[in-house]
Amino acid sequence: MMTLTAVQMQLADLDQKIRTVQKHILRTIQPLNTIRFHDGDVDGAEQPDFDDRDWPFFSTGRTWGGHDRLCWFRMPFTYAAVPGNEKPGVLIQPGKRFVFRSSEGGDLREYELLVYLDGRPLQSIDVRRTLIPLHDLVKPGERHLLALEAFSGLETHVHVFEQADLVAIHPLTEAFYYTARNLLDCLIAIGESHAAFPRLIAVLERALLQVDFFQTGTAAFFDSIARADEMLQKELGPEPTPAAGAPAVLCLGHSHLDLAWKWRVRHSIQKAARTCANALRLMELYPEFRYSQSQAQLYQWMQTHQPVLFTQIRERITSGQWEAIGGMWVESDCNIPNGESLVRQFLFGKRYFRRELASDPQTAWLPDCFGFCYSLPQIMKECGIRWFVTTKLSWNQFTSFPYDTFFWQGVDGTRILCHFITTPDRRGWNDYSVDLNAANVKGCWDSYRQQQANHEVLLSFGWGDGGGGPTAEMLENGRRLNAAGVLPFCRQGSVEGFFHDLEQRVSDLPVWNDELYLQLHRGTYTSQAKIKKQNRECEALLHHLELLSSIAYLRSGWYPQAEINRAWESVLLNQFHDILPGSSIVEVYQDCDQVYEQVRKTGAEIIQQALRRIGL
Ligand SMILES: [Zn+2]
Repeated sequence: MMTLTAVQMQLADLDQKIRTVQKHILRTIQPLNTIRFHDGDVDGAEQPDFDDRDWPFFSTGRTWGGHDRLCWFRMPFTYAAVPGNEKPGVLIQPGKRFVFRSSEGGDLREYELLVYLDGRPLQSIDVRRTLIPLHDLVKPGERHLLALEAFSGLETHVHVFEQADLVAIHPLTEAFYYTARNLLDCLIAIGESHAAFPRLIAVLERALLQVDFFQTGTAAFFDSIARADEMLQKELGPEPTPAAGAPAVLCLGHSHLDLAWKWRVRHSIQKAARTCANALRLMELYPEFRYSQSQAQLYQWMQTHQPVLFTQIRERITSGQWEAIGGMWVESDCNIPNGESLVRQFLFGKRYFRRELASDPQTAWLPDCFGFCYSLPQIMKECGIRWFVTTKLSWNQFTSFPYDTFFWQGVDGTRILCHFITTPDRRGWNDYSVDLNAANVKGCWDSYRQQQANHEVLLSFGWGDGGGGPTAEMLENGRRLNAAGVLPFCRQGSVEGFFHDLEQRVSDLPVWNDELYLQLHRGTYTSQAKIKKQNRECEALLHHLELLSSIAYLRSGWYPQAEINRAWESVLLNQFHDILPGSSIVEVYQDCDQVYEQVRKTGAEIIQQALRRIGL
């Protein structure tokens, strides 16, 4: 039987007390008891003036869902005033409660909902996000409408809709909870051998002793929280200023979205909307929040399917809070596509970023791709890319890749400055989709192998693979990571800002002169062989039809640019790093067959027309 040390018992006791405080952040005011439900998708159901009178009423405790269902809930409400300085919100629990301990999830086995407030896409509700803060959006006595576009997931089971309540958020209890929680997380991260440990654990203990746990939920309890918070703030003092050259972590909000994987492309379009809405809403609530998003294809989906979100994204790019990164059409596989395709990934990506987002990304952002070919540095440089980020090489099965910051030299001698994300996950691999907390900040710095050459590393936080992105909890943590002065100094910023600074700071970096081979995910050259064959056939087809169309243009001025671009975009999408390598579910490949069929049809028509104009 495992026995706990005195310090471990002390930490466990503090953890229990902090959890008790957490239970009193939210207070239910009233249930949302007018809910209408529609089992299926309906155009315009998010709009306040949508006529839902023939939809049946729904109540909490009832079930919804099943395999691959898109449903709607509509909840009109009038907000009653909340007392004192409490903040209004809505708590939605559309299924079973989950406790997640890792970065897994978002794989659409579970529900994901997009919340609209009075017709505006606001945020998602999912297994990690159940609260909708409304303090800046509603006033007492006003009538509003929440409409939920609810995706059931790809399992067959139904969900029990557990909760839909108007709630009041107690801001002081919330603030104290996060400050105490972060201090405890810091203590656990640094360990009892750290010189500051005895002082900091005593500070936390003294503060929690102020809390009247015998009268939880009463006015006396909340008064005691105020005293505890004041004491904790006073004892921690002002945030320390880091010394020049002290270890630092640039924290970057991001969400990795696989454009198909355990879900189909059509699901990813909805995931992208939920992810973008979350990031935009957090920018309103946390002005310091910075977010970076890659993949031109994702932005094009928003432009087509979510114009309100797309307009907001453009505004946030202009204001500098949102960074469009990556430069490629999708985060493509980098081993199987031919050289022309890799060039087109950047050409189509950069052209879109410049035209639609007034951005010119110079960082190849490929955290999850399964290895990188030797010719890529030359292609990147010629396409206007200066820097490269991945995480994947830490997943090597047998040998450890030796560098985290280095120059990658390609087959022609071109060099690209690279930085690898070094935040370790519970598997020991470095991860691009993590919580923002003390353990990850410390781990990100501790794992870094070029500490002698460079003092700042990159941490990409926010749930991903299936999108979702950063949460309010992460940003609350972000405000407190420097409070105890024992972690590497944290700041939020952009990827390209990071590289600009890095370039100025470092010299004499090591050089890796070879491909970046991933010793994992073997089988990606052979799995789903049909898609490899169709990809290569379409690459050849696109070459032929562009050649013949160019000759036809010289003869007649005819060139089907729009049709050729659409065909290329289809081929480029299917080169995504979970589609072309063969790591997606079978339905993804059924969709791909149809896409390639359309490309072949378009290609055959263009070639016929071109030959006619050439006179052959
Ligand atoms: Zn991925």
